[in-house]
Amino acid sequence: MLCTLVLSTVASASWAGAPPHDYLLLPDRVWTGDGNTAHTDWAVLVHNDSIAAVGPKASIQTPADTQRIELPGATLTPGLIDLHSHLFLHPYNETLWNDQVLKEPTDYRTLEAAAHARVTLLSGFTTLRDLGTEGAGYADVSIKRAIDDGLIPGPRMFIATRAIVANASYGPGPRGFRPDLDLPSGAQEVSGVDAAMRAVREQAAHGADWIKLYADYRVGPDGGTAPTFTAAELKAIVDTAHLIGRPVAAHAASDAGVRMAVEAGVDSVEHGYGASESTFKLIKQHGTAYEPTLTAVDATEEYFDHYRPGQDPPTAKMREAEHAFRTALKLGVTIGNGSDVGVFAHGTNWREPVAMVRDGMTAPQALHAATDVAAKILRQQDHFGRIAVGMRADLAAFAGDPTAHIDDLAHPVFVMKDGTLYRTPNEKP
Ligand SMILES: [Zn+2]
Repeated sequence: MLCTLVLSTVASASWAGAPPHDYLLLPDRVWTGDGNTAHTDWAVLVHNDSIAAVGPKASIQTPADTQRIELPGATLTPGLIDLHSHLFLHPYNETLWNDQVLKEPTDYRTLEAAAHARVTLLSGFTTLRDLGTEGAGYADVSIKRAIDDGLIPGPRMFIATRAIVANASYGPGPRGFRPDLDLPSGAQEVSGVDAAMRAVREQAAHGADWIKLYADYRVGPDGGTAPTFTAAELKAIVDTAHLIGRPVAAHAASDAGVRMAVEAGVDSVEHGYGASESTFKLIKQHGTAYEPTLTAVDATEEYFDHYRPGQDPPTAKMREAEHAFRTALKLGVTIGNGSDVGVFAHGTNWREPVAMVRDGMTAPQALHAATDVAAKILRQQDHFGRIAVGMRADLAAFAGDPTAHIDDLAHPVFVMKDGTLYRTPNEKP
């Protein structure tokens, strides 16, 4: 009992100080997550951790002692959501992925992850689905707990812990390394239905909210991308996860890999660069969500293929990713905002909605993908993702109007999560 009491004391003493009861937020515009236009002369009233009122300024009754926060020139939106992050990675042009996994101690990576969580929250992203620690074991469970306990500032976390890969079908190596080396893996390796089921149960028991699997990887004869798991292994992972209430996210870049993952019943497909139109039709039929991770391609092409943003035409890989995205958009596939941040700098998650608009979405479509649509993919649409009475007070404001100019997401001026202030125009972090 004593232990419980101590923990709840920590939880109520939030990082930014105990929040006052009521805030009246006064931006130039409010975009609620419903529809495609921002409302001028609207305000939002926050009571404790939730939204108490939203509407025309004149219509909102404020209790005594309400703290007014003016947000001149800014647009208030629901807190943004990135459905594909890696808090335990940092940009590959700083340190190659292999070197991060092989050389950086998990303790150090965990401290880095805490710093990454902070900059992410301060950039207006109040929720992350973090899809695997990439060799840092279950350290994401501790990051999530430290955020929930108020020890460190960070987004609301949905975590995947170690992720599941087929034996010898991920990195580092074994390809490219001397064969007598026993390398640590970037994820949990399994072969066979029993081992696959066991891994799901272990990860769930240790705290995985989602199960992440790699349906394909560079395992083809010449290092080309090919499916890794058999259909039976995929189905075993998905069915075991669903039995205990964990949705499944599948890394899949090849047409065959995406198709097998969707047929096995995964809940979201990550990347999907090589998926054909008929495979996207299957995704649509199954109601599977798709996270395009366009920015990951932009970043890796810049690091490893001499692509210069703003100067060069898109590379072949960028065009392939764009083509997949446009196909999904045309077919009405559920597209969630998922960037693969970690490949590029944390706190610049806004690059993905910007890339989605570059490749064919309207600004409001990209905002929906990062708010209400993303919340629905997380099965959290009753808790956050829109500005509506009774929803959690997860809110962000940006200088300008991102419903008209998506790039304005790069300029956050205000961040609140669960009714706690983390950023205001007067107090810059
Ligand atoms: Zn990823």
